[in-house]
Amino acid sequence: MDYALSMMPGYHRGVLDIIRHYRWQGIIYLYDSEDGLHRLQQMLQSVTPGNGTLRVLHARRIFGAADALAFLRSLEMLDRWSIKRVVLDCEAHLAQEVIVGHVQDVHLGRRNYHYLLSGLVMDEEWDRRVQEYGAINITGFRLVDPERPLVKALLRLWQSNAGLDKLLSAQTALMYDSLLVITEALRQLWPELASSVGMVQGRVFNCSQDFSNVTGYEHGGMIMKQLRKTKIEGITGNISFSDDGKRENYRLDVVEMSVNSRPVKMGVWSDLYGFDAVEFGPRRVQQGVRKKNNTIIITTIEEPPFIMVLKGEDAINKTGNDLLVGYCKDLADMLAKQVGFTYEMRLVKDRRYGAVNASVDGNWDGIIGELVRREADIAVAPLSISLAREEVVSFTKPFMTLGISIMIKKPIKKNPGFFSFLNPFSREIWLCVVFAYFGVSIVLFLVSRFSPYEWRLEETVLGTTVTNEFTIYNSLWFVLGALLKQGSDISPRSISGRLVGSCWWFFCLILVSSYTANLAAFLTVERLVTPINSVDDLAAQNDVEYGTLRSGTTTAFFENSKLGIYQRMWDFMSSNEHVFVRSYQEGIERVRNSKGKYALLVESTTNDYVNSRQPCDTMKVGRNLDSKGYGVATPLDSPWRNALNMAVLRMKDYGELAKLENRWWVTNSECKEAEESQASELLLSNVAGIFYILIGGLVLAMLVALTEFCCKSKTEAKRAKTTHMAAMRARARMTISGTTDIEGGKYYAPAKHVDGERLTNSHTHV
Ligand code: ASP
Repeated sequence: MDYALSMMPGYHRGVLDIIRHYRWQGIIYLYDSEDGLHRLQQMLQSVTPGNGTLRVLHARRIFGAADALAFLRSLEMLDRWSIKRVVLDCEAHLAQEVIVGHVQDVHLGRRNYHYLLSGLVMDEEWDRRVQEYGAINITGFRLVDPERPLVKALLRLWQSNAGLDKLLSAQTALMYDSLLVITEALRQLWPELASSVGMVQGRVFNCSQDFSNVTGYEHGGMIMKQLRKTKIEGITGNISFSDDGKRENYRLDVVEMSVNSRPVKMGVWSDLYGFDAVEFGPRRVQQGVRKKNNTIIITTIEEPPFIMVLKGEDAINKTGNDLLVGYCKDLADMLAKQVGFTYEMRLVKDRRYGAVNASVDGNWDGIIGELVRREADIAVAPLSISLAREEVVSFTKPFMTLGISIMIKKPIKKNPGFFSFLNPFSREIWLCVVFAYFGVSIVLFLVSRFSPYEWRLEETVLGTTVTNEFTIYNSLWFVLGALLKQGSDISPRSISGRLVGSCWWFFCLILVSSYTANLAAFLTVERLVTPINSVDDLAAQNDVEYGTLRSGTTTAFFENSKLGIYQRMWDFMSSNEHVFVRSYQEGIERVRNSKGKYALLVESTTNDYVNSRQPCDTMKVGRNLDSKGYGVATPLDSPWRNALNMAVLRMKDYGELAKLENRWWVTNSECKEAEESQASELLLSNVAGIFYILIGGLVLAMLVALTEFCCKSKTEAKRAKTTHMAAMRARARMTISGTTDIEGGKYYAPAKHVDGERLTNSHTHV
């Protein structure tokens, strides 16, 4: 078992978080021990692709303050004006010496230096002879928060008893807390230890004695376990340990040296949540409240329906803010009223939302850039909250939630087609029905042949004959009659025949009912056949190109995504630069004009709005790819931040935001009427197919009848020994007059004259 217990919290990640918070591009790292170098290695290792970069411009081991200052002076000789960010990793007293030396050194610049002290130097009492610490920027960590009641009480005691007018140094505080931990652990264990024999006598070790024959203390393991289990509140905050004896769940104050040389808390770093730059009072440099005649500058972007610029007649007699309308304008008005400011709303100069412009200068562009450069005080726009942006500006809680979605051109409605009455069943079903029809007819024919009950005696003029009604022809007729729900005048008498018949009837019953049920739906609903139905469809094809906005979170989403499908999409987009658009307006026009060959990846809010506007030719397909929110943004240290946050939450809770959204999205819709009028009635085109079949059937029947007419006339001409033409004429007369006694029965042969033909009452061939 390892008997080490570390009271000192580890915070190299904290140093890294602060560097990221300040967005330092390069640092000078000075350290005084192997441990310092090790910490630098740890920091470099924890920078993984995707979570920022850390550029170390110089790393140097220093041997004393004079050495450090000499090195800094040498840098100053090389480049006097650049901003130097120095991370100083050394003992508190050495760090102080370096700072004091720097403040007193006339050769070193002041305002262009920013020290980040990675030892717990901010807990120490600073050398009072020097007054100008505020002249250089200093940031560091503080373990003991002097504002905490426990610390205040201890300090009071400390000062009155010991007469010391000093701060608690980190070392002292840690020592004090160690004793608290030990006391607490032993208190917990006391009943157990006291009862164990021999414990109370204890053992006294003489430090000068020979340790080779010292035996281990049998309760050591137990005490160690208890020490690690201890959870108390000390003057260094929450004290608890991980299984390997390291501090966990702790917080450190991050403080900056104020101009009057007093440390001011600028945020908190914790091992669980990282750095949180929450406002804790006046900051060292109060920037960002840019006022022009006491008016705040709000930056935004033209993006219907969030912000639209009035033009033409609508713009007459309007100036300034009045020229802008939209959701964000209304939101800004409501915020101004609740928080209490007047504002001037401006459109962002480069018409972008904001991304790090790596190809130009590595700085933020768009709305975010304006906030970072303090050119605007607030951004009220459809600005998505993201991690990278949150590091450089502050967002309120989201006022709207949304996701990335796909916009395509609405496909032209497909004509239902003449034969759409076939649609209720798939082609396979129709084929099976045809096979079933023939199959059942054949089975019925065979069954009736074999079954003696289908045979019957029949009296004819030629005598008694044995007949079977289920010839192949009649079987086909019977089965068809059942399928079309018409029945026929023959029906099976044998059990086997009836079995076949009833199975077939049942089959037809279900088949026809299913067909009828489905038919109505198929004929009335005109379905849009979309080539792309989801993001998977989009990623899997090459026919339709897709792209998105150049500078924004949608691009960043694809760029940073770890999901295979989005990575593939990003590969496609990044290798086809032309698929990107400079604004959503441009993208929407492209969707409309490219005949379905371009899909835009756009935020669902814009997608929904555009789809409900004339000419109603775009649509959203598939689910949203992600989920995010729009927030009101301010520079990091803006005094408006909290008030704006509260105002957004209030409006959300009271339903004002939902009302506003309804107003700009639902009530303003221009397309719903057009969509609904397509409702239910059937058009001729829906059912034209059955008319064609009917006409076709009738024509065929007439042709067959004509053929029969000719064939019959031919036979009769032979029998009557006359010409075919004469026989046809006579038959035509008979057909027209409807009488059989034509030319004294020369052509018409009564049944008894028909040689060999079977004649029954019901089957008379004419
Ligand atoms: N609203 C987005 C943004 O803030 C625009 C986008 O990237 O789709 O960047």
